[in-house]
Amino acid sequence: MSYDLVVIGGGVTGAGVARDAALRGLKVALVERGEPGGGTTAASTHLIHGGVRYLLYDRLTTHATCWDSGHIVRTAGDLLTRLPLLWPVYRGHARGLETVETLFEEYDKFQPMKYGLPHMRLTPEACLRLVPGLKAEGLKGGLVFDEWWVDAQKLAARTLDSARAAGAEVFLGAAADAILRDGPRAVGVGAGGRELRGRVIVNAAGPWVDKVADLAGARLPLRLMKGTHLIWKDPKRVPVGLLLEAEDRERYVFVVPSPLGTWVGPTDLPGPADPDQARTTPEEVAYLLRSVRRYFAGWPEAPDSTIVGSRPILGQPGAEKLLSRDFEVFDHETRDGIPGLLTIGGGKMSDYRVMAEAAVDAACRKLGSPARATTQSLTLDGRPVGPIPDFRPPSPELKNFLKTRPRLRELYALGHLGAAFALHAARRAAGLCPIEGEDAFRRRYPSAGAAQ
Ligand SMILES: Cc1cc2nc3c(=O)[nH]c(=O)nc-3n(C[C@H](O)[C@H](O)[C@H](O)COP(=O)(O)OP(=O)(O)OC[C@H]3O[C@@H](n4cnc5c(N)ncnc54)[C@H](O)[C@@H]3O)c2cc1C
Repeated sequence: MSYDLVVIGGGVTGAGVARDAALRGLKVALVERGEPGGGTTAASTHLIHGGVRYLLYDRLTTHATCWDSGHIVRTAGDLLTRLPLLWPVYRGHARGLETVETLFEEYDKFQPMKYGLPHMRLTPEACLRLVPGLKAEGLKGGLVFDEWWVDAQKLAARTLDSARAAGAEVFLGAAADAILRDGPRAVGVGAGGRELRGRVIVNAAGPWVDKVADLAGARLPLRLMKGTHLIWKDPKRVPVGLLLEAEDRERYVFVVPSPLGTWVGPTDLPGPADPDQARTTPEEVAYLLRSVRRYFAGWPEAPDSTIVGSRPILGQPGAEKLLSRDFEVFDHETRDGIPGLLTIGGGKMSDYRVMAEAAVDAACRKLGSPARATTQSLTLDGRPVGPIPDFRPPSPELKNFLKTRPRLRELYALGHLGAAFALHAARRAAGLCPIEGEDAFRRRYPSAGAAQ
């Protein structure tokens, strides 16, 4: 069988690539070794979010991700639930209330892109009423913001359905075991005895991209960061989401109530080179438990289950804590002399649509096709989305400049925060920053804490 594009990997990224390409009228096949979204996608925190904490060192990723999250809200809105989250701040925390509020004042600038509401600052009493069992001692107040919760595997599956509806052929339980070659050129994919010929092959295998590239003799500068969540079956161990300073006072962990249970995590640790060998360690479980039990003395000591996944970080040197969540499209023709092979990786679920667009743009350049993406203007079930607000992604030139300069990227982020902090301090002194009670929260989020 012969296609314009053969995609390897049916996580949210590969599904997005297949959908984008099929909607452009290309003939597409996708192979997935397991179930749609069963890899890193299933192990994510399940949030469509901009990443408020990236504002500390990678502001442009927050901006870019909020921008594409807006497209996801418009196209997959029926899968998303607005999740209010509380960041409680205590005496002795690494970041004080005014600093955290400054962070959210900056996040508010990007929130409208994804239909997020502006932050609220709550009194300590309001926080305690909102979250029964939350430790009272030392609580100075809290900041509320919101993100979108999504069943990540469903998002991948529905995106694949949309690709199929546009004509893509999807082969599940089909592991790519060979990249077919004609001289240096990649001309197809072998998967369990099946041969799928393609004019362009897109490697979208998430943390397995390196293994897939290796089938063609190419190497990728891949770093894998392992992330574990602890899961309690109770979907409502807490009535709202939480973002908590972790035990080490460096990192933050989410507590996310959801129809899939209450998830606590993730960790973010260097993982094994083989993602199939990533395991949750007793140290990770203990770290997450201690982190959540800092705030809830009565939190049960053992989770019902755990889940682990590996983040693929592509082409980035430097300190782990400064690693960007930006994505990369690698053209193996220019990198390794293998025409016809592309790799897309890194990034986040929250910008999977624009990742797919970038990969398919690169494929179209190879195919000589002028077709443009339409994924931003059609819902996953094929309806037009209506008018799209005129928000802009960050400048590509600035993004590219900062891409390989992690320290400068951090300075750029901190420079913005420094200026914002001065403004915040002036506004606070002038009495312009309200501190709200529980009622204001309930008016804003009337269904928070209701049964799901
Ligand atoms: C702990 C953690 C928490 C995260 N939380 C969030 C979050 O809340 N929000 C967010 O936006 N992002 C989050 N992310 C990032 C997000 O999960 C990833 O960016 C995204 O899921 C990656 O999707 P993917 O399709 O690239 O990879 P994957 O989902 O891993 O998909 C790759 C697919 O390729 C398949 N595959 C591998 N080898 C082959 C082969 N040889 N042949 C065929 N198929 C193959 C695999 O089976 C897999 O299904 C998180 C990541 C981690 C690790």
